[in-house]
Amino acid sequence: MLEVSNLSVRYGRHLALEDAALTAGEGEIVVVLGSNGAGKSTLIKAMAGLVRTEPGARVMLEGKPLHKLPAHRIVDAGLALVPEGRHLFGTLTVAENLMLGAFLPRTRDKADESMEKVFAVFPKLKERLAQVAGTMSGGEQQMVAIGRAMMTCPRLLLLDEPSLGLSPLLTSELFKALPSIAETGTSVLLVEQNSHQSLAIADRGYLIEKGVITGEGTAKELLESADVQKAYLGG
Ligand code: ATP
Repeated sequence: MLEVSNLSVRYGRHLALEDAALTAGEGEIVVVLGSNGAGKSTLIKAMAGLVRTEPGARVMLEGKPLHKLPAHRIVDAGLALVPEGRHLFGTLTVAENLMLGAFLPRTRDKADESMEKVFAVFPKLKERLAQVAGTMSGGEQQMVAIGRAMMTCPRLLLLDEPSLGLSPLLTSELFKALPSIAETGTSVLLVEQNSHQSLAIADRGYLIEKGVITGEGTAKELLESADVQKAYLGG
């Protein structure tokens, strides 16, 4: 479904991501765990075509080479990004923000159907369609941002630190929605510092340190690993 290899990004002389490789299967939830500045956002942006990658990078989604496409064509090919900080249009309503996600010709006709899928995952949004997005709580805004990405009918959803700024309770509420997205066949890849809660809903995970992927395993293996306990789980 998703196969990434040789993904490297340089900011000037700084190598922020070095030969990253990972995979995600259909309907799988994969988490990349790393601390501040480890390169998590860079990894996500590189996959979405938002930063320039070094030669040799490969990002294959269902056999399509995304690394050859500009960012807008990458969305059309089925990859949707929920950026860190959500980037909603704060003065527009929830409905308007969601509809912005259905901008592609292939998704416009399916907007009503997609909207129902969003409501199935986040029932709260149906009651809040007329609310101005900027007046919502952080957790609700994150739901709108994920909903907007779902409106592009993605095959792969990329989430950049969705738990950032949310309480553990709100994070848990939000994360509980991810398996229901994955069950529809959409793969979910999230990068996180919040290891406990993300591993609780993930199938598999990777560890990233200083731009290098240093470990991987099933969520259960990572939860039980002494290294992960020490570095990420306060154990
Ligand atoms: P955080 O959780 O703090 O967002 P992160 O794991 O997402 O961290 P990145 O944002 O990918 O990390 O940053 C990786 C490294 O690259 C950091 O050292 C960062 O300072 C550097 N970096 C990120 N963006 C740029 C940029 N546009 N120009 C120069 N250096 C950058």
